[in-house]
Formats: sequence, structure tokens, C-alpha cells
Amino acid sequence: MTQSYRFLIDGSLVPALEERTAKIVDPATESALAEVPHGSERDVDRAVEAAARAFEGWAATPPRDRSAALLKLAERIEAHAEELASIESRNVGKPISLARSEIPFLIDNLRFFAGAARCVDGRAAGEYTQGFTSMLRREPVGVVGSIAPWNYPLMMAVWKIGPALAAGNTVVLKPAEQTPLTALRLGELAADLFPPGVLNVISGDGIPVGAALVAHPKVAMVSLTGDTETGKLIAKNAAATLKRVHLELGGKAPVLVFDDADLDLVVRTLRVAGFANSGQDCTAACRIYARATVFDRLVRDLAPAVASLKTGDLENADTELGPLVSSEQRSRVQGFVDRAVKSRHVEIVTGGHAGDKRGFWFEPTVVAGARQEDEIVQREVFGPVITVTRFDDDDQAIRWANDVNYGLAASVFTTNVQHAMDAARRLRFGTVWINEHLTLVSEMPHGGFKHSGYGSDMSVYALGDYTVPKHVMVRIS
Ligand code: NAD
Repeated sequence: MTQSYRFLIDGSLVPALEERTAKIVDPATESALAEVPHGSERDVDRAVEAAARAFEGWAATPPRDRSAALLKLAERIEAHAEELASIESRNVGKPISLARSEIPFLIDNLRFFAGAARCVDGRAAGEYTQGFTSMLRREPVGVVGSIAPWNYPLMMAVWKIGPALAAGNTVVLKPAEQTPLTALRLGELAADLFPPGVLNVISGDGIPVGAALVAHPKVAMVSLTGDTETGKLIAKNAAATLKRVHLELGGKAPVLVFDDADLDLVVRTLRVAGFANSGQDCTAACRIYARATVFDRLVRDLAPAVASLKTGDLENADTELGPLVSSEQRSRVQGFVDRAVKSRHVEIVTGGHAGDKRGFWFEPTVVAGARQEDEIVQREVFGPVITVTRFDDDDQAIRWANDVNYGLAASVFTTNVQHAMDAARRLRFGTVWINEHLTLVSEMPHGGFKHSGYGSDMSVYALGDYTVPKHVMVRIS
């Protein structure tokens, strides 16, 4: 890849102030893929100062014009869709078909926020006490520091900048150090679409670059998508300057398979929802609970279906499964599987090993017979590994589904509407799918309960998170 990457700061494309660069590795081959500017606290300061200078003007820009700029950004992404998909595929190790399929969705996210920017609602102005008129304003928060994870770099960039810019904030975006390429390219593509300083994109390590964004006194809000432990640390550090914090963190999505489920649909869905993006997805269907009466058949059908996932050349449109993002991630996944095997009560019905060629490959894996208290059931593996646990009664399934620290997404497979609605009510997760797992839409919020964080992505709720309500009261008599 010959593309050279630069930061977007104050409307200009620039190298890192200290002129250092970082090497980006191709996860499929372990070879060097690109060099990017390696940011420091000084770059954070430069970007935040630019965003702070731009804030007043952008906040005062009519929603119509903010909306028009976001629509142009959507159009530009559309015009560069194939290029962006190709960069994303190589940087993250995603099959090209998956990288391509993400682009229309993130364009739709931007178009949604372009529309929503013009439809902010709230209480009607009125005389809520005699002699005074009250009215509501929804103000942008200020400079937003947006910190993204490595698994969906372009989509996370869009989920963060869409609502923040639509609401009139200015943004400093920091992608993950492993996968900064599409966010940096997005910065280049957006450079002439917004007034200088409205959108800034810099890259670098969590410490010091992310940490400097969290500490900066001119940043009013931090939005993180990342690991739960990073979220806790950021919330703690942001408290020193009382920043607003928006956290989309880890997940451990349960899939409840009741005895009246359509098992063919379950298998077809899990083959995708458990393994898309190599399972490196916070909503991945990874924790399957099957009623004892259907457990054996489900495991029997799942094993060949999962084993049939096509791996290999990421540029081949038929490839379904790529490598993991890094050797650290592969060791982490292998560690979870090895420890599960040691417990002796589980059976690896397919997969279980790292690949034998260069690149961070790991076989798609099904672990049958895992127990509720097992580490592999309780903790986020973030790899192509699903567990299947047997349950005896429906209450037990719901209790077990809720019995983890996470609360991002869950699904229920049943043909009984009572089962479905009862589970939807009782499951403590931000998204509950019925006879589906993974699909999201721009109009609905995506966010967590418990250790999966707080705040919503997408939808008008995200727009709300990036604004502050202000009451203006006028004496009228
Ligand atoms: P991570 O927490 O290691 O890193 C996320 C980002 O935080 C990176 O940009 C990193 O540089 C930065 N960072 C790290 N330490 C920091 C610090 N001390 N101060 C400021 N910034 C810091 O997460 P990851 O490994 O990149 O991503 C995987 C995690 O993200 C998983 O746990 C996954 O579940 C979660 N995730 C959640 C969602 C969601 O919507 N809830 C979506 C995707 C990923």
C-alpha cells in the first residue's frame, strides 16, 4: 500500500509534530502494511486547541448547513467506498465482502444524523409558572474527544463523529493504534468539507495520546468504544475535569435457544453472528444456551456448519473468516480455549487451534458443555469461539443469560410469542433480538447495561447524549 497518511488538524493534513511514525502490520500476513504519523501529547494539544477555536462558529452554524456537510461526507465515502473497504480489509484482517458490506450502513448512519440534526425536539415553550415563559435549548457540549477501538475502525469513527458534529460539537478523533488507516483516510476525505478545526483526526497509543485527550482541560466530553477496563480508567481520569463520558464497552452476548426454536435458523444465524469479523465484535453471539431437549442436535448441526466457514485470501469475495487483529489477540483467544480444555468437562467439537501459516489466524471454534461459572462463559474472548451450555428450564436460562458483568446484546430463538416477549422484558441488555442476532439500524440506539457502559450510539438518543439541555426563562409580566 503506497498511500501516505497524515493527521487532519485545523483543516490541514500534517505529519506528527515530533515527526515520528508507527508501522502498521497486515494481520493476514504479518508483513508491514503502512506507516502512519505517531502522535504525542503535543499533537493532542494542537488538535484540541483547533477544535476549541472552531467550536463557537460550528455551534452557531444552522442545522441545515451542518446537515449539508454531513451529507457531503456521506457522498464522499460513497465515492471512495471500494478504496475504504480495501484499506479496512487489509488493516483489520476482514474479508473484503464484510468490509464492503459495512460501508452502506455507515453511510446510512451519517445520512440519518444529517437528518436528525434538523429535527431536535424537546418540551414546548410555555408559561409553566405565571408571568414567565420557559423555553428549552439543546446546546452542543463543546470539544468531544472520540476514542475508537480496532475492530470496526471506520464504522466507529462514523458512529462517533456523526452525532457529535450534527449536534454542533467539534471533534478530535483518535482511532486505535493497530487500525488507524481508514480513520486517517476519512480525515483526508473530509478535510475540505468542514470549517478548519471542526473535525480533527490524530492517531497514536492509548497512553499517551488517548490519555492526553481525556485529561485535556478544553475537552468537554470523551466518547470511548473499547474494553471495559479502559472504560473504567477513562471514567476515573475524566472525573478530574468533570468531563461528560460516553462509554460503549465490552459484551458477552447470550443466545437463548428454547425447545420450540427453529434450529436450522439458529445454526444459520450463529454461523454468521458468532464469527463475523472473527468474533471480534462486542455483540458477537458467543454464549449459547440450549434447552437440554435440543442441545445435542444443535451441537451436532453447529460443528460442520462452523467448520465450513471459508477462510483464506481476504480479497476473495467468498472468504468468510479472516485472522485476528494481532498476535496478542490470538494468544489471548488461545489462552481462553486452552484453559477451558483443561477443565475437562468441555468438548471442542470443531476448531480450537491457531492457524499454521503466517498471520494471526485462529480456527472457528465451538466449545460444547461449558458451564455457567467457567471463565470462557463469563469473560469476553473476542475471537471466533462460541460456547454451548445446556439448560433445564427457561427461568434458569434467563438467570444465566443475565449472570455476567456485561449487558450489551442478547438474542432469543423461539416460535412462542410468550417466550419471546417474556425474555425480551427480563434480559438486562441494551439490544434484544428475537429469532435474529447482529442486525442494527440507524434509527435505534446501540448501547449497554452494566459493565457494557452507558450512552447510546446511533438514533436520536445518541444525538441527545451529545447535547446539554438548557432552560431559558423570560419574565413576561
Ligand atoms: P481498548 O480499550 O484496548 O482500546 C480502545 C481505544 O482506547 C484505543 O483507541 C486505545 O488506544 C484507547 N486507550 C487505551 N487505553 C487508554 C487510556 N488509558 N486512555 C485513553 N485511551 C486509551 O479496546 P480495543 O482492544 O481496541 O477494542 C476491543 C474492545 O472494544 C472490546 O472489549 C469490545 O467489546 C469493545 N467494543 C465495544 C463496542 C460497543 O459498541 N460496545 C464496539 C466495538 C468494540
